[in-house]
Amino acid sequence: MHSELVDTLRCLSVHEESWLVVAADETDGRHIMRGLLGCPVCHARYPIEHGIADFSGGARVPVALDTGSVPPGEAAAVKLAAMLDLTDPSGYVILVGEWARLGAALREIVPVMALAVNPHPDAIIGGGVSGLTTLDRIPVAASSARGIAFAPPGATDEQPLELSAALGAVRPGGRVVAGIDVTATDDVAVVARDGEHWVATRTSGAPMIRLVRGRA
Ligand SMILES: [Zn+2]
Repeated sequence: MHSELVDTLRCLSVHEESWLVVAADETDGRHIMRGLLGCPVCHARYPIEHGIADFSGGARVPVALDTGSVPPGEAAAVKLAAMLDLTDPSGYVILVGEWARLGAALREIVPVMALAVNPHPDAIIGGGVSGLTTLDRIPVAASSARGIAFAPPGATDEQPLELSAALGAVRPGGRVVAGIDVTATDDVAVVARDGEHWVATRTSGAPMIRLVRGRA
């Protein structure tokens, strides 16, 4: 977990949105490879091991997904950079599942920060690619990511990360990329499609989560 992305992480518990504090036991450059994230509101703890923060309560370790639709390599990374409209390195992008395998190659093209969510075990974590595991939500500030490459969960997944829930992390107008095996939802506007992938922007169709801080 890159120290810059720690500010973007949010506690998953039901209370007012809270950032997390981090205690690092082992670092590699600016990446926290082993440590502990803690919520100052509810005292929930999220351990970091091998650079990957665990927001799944230990339920999800990086596992292989068998969709096989994303061949890793430079050409695939170039295509991903184009689909995500990465013309500059600002902000961060979310790479779900096997898209995370392209994180390191993507950063060779555009040095954008990448957050690998439920990363494929082959994904290289570090060097600007952060990792976390989670269940049905991505524990980041609402509308904070500039784009997302989404991959479907496994068929036997009991608390799958659905596209509509994942989109809450993406800013309105941000890019959304997925394989054609993923059904586009009402909260995206598809702008391009080929035999393998579709590219969309997040629309404001999804209800925004409102945080109420006391009485108005
Ligand atoms: Zn909390």
